Amino acid sequence: MIIATDDLEITCPTCKGERVIKDNKCDSCSGKGVILTSQGQTLLHFMKRHLEK
Ligand SMILES: [Zn+2]
Repeated sequence: MIIATDDLEITCPTCKGERVIKDNKCDSCSGKGVILTSQGQTLLHFMKRHLEK
């Protein structure tokens, strides 16, 4: 299975990847500049579930 980075995360539409809004950390992406897609969240939850063992 091949997953491109673009399938997992996209540029935050709120701050447009700037990570900040008017010098405040962007809440939508927690200052990351990107947000997870639903596929990215699925993968993240899957990995967390298995890493916590
Ligand atoms: Zn943002």
